Amino acid sequence: MSQYQHGPQQQSQFENFTASTLYCEKCRAATPVREKLLLVLPDREIFDYLCTECGSSVGKREVTAGEKMKAEPMPGRTRQRIPIRLR
Ligand SMILES: [Zn+2]
Repeated sequence: MSQYQHGPQQQSQFENFTASTLYCEKCRAATPVREKLLLVLPDREIFDYLCTECGSSVGKREVTAGEKMKAEPMPGRTRQRIPIRLR
């Protein structure tokens, strides 16, 4: 159903969303991976991608706080206070 569109453009769109398959060196093939939260830092979270076939780590992903919460003001860039008015 989702296979009818092939192309690098579509793949890059989903890249920072979720990776369903990654190349595994042990299996020597692109295998399904599962995402595991590896480390939580104050400004980012690091995810580990594990091969579902052999369980080895095939990749990592960092999600910064800015990516998660785009509305959050950037530190060091708030020279002016921006008045927030709800109405
Ligand atoms: Zn593997």
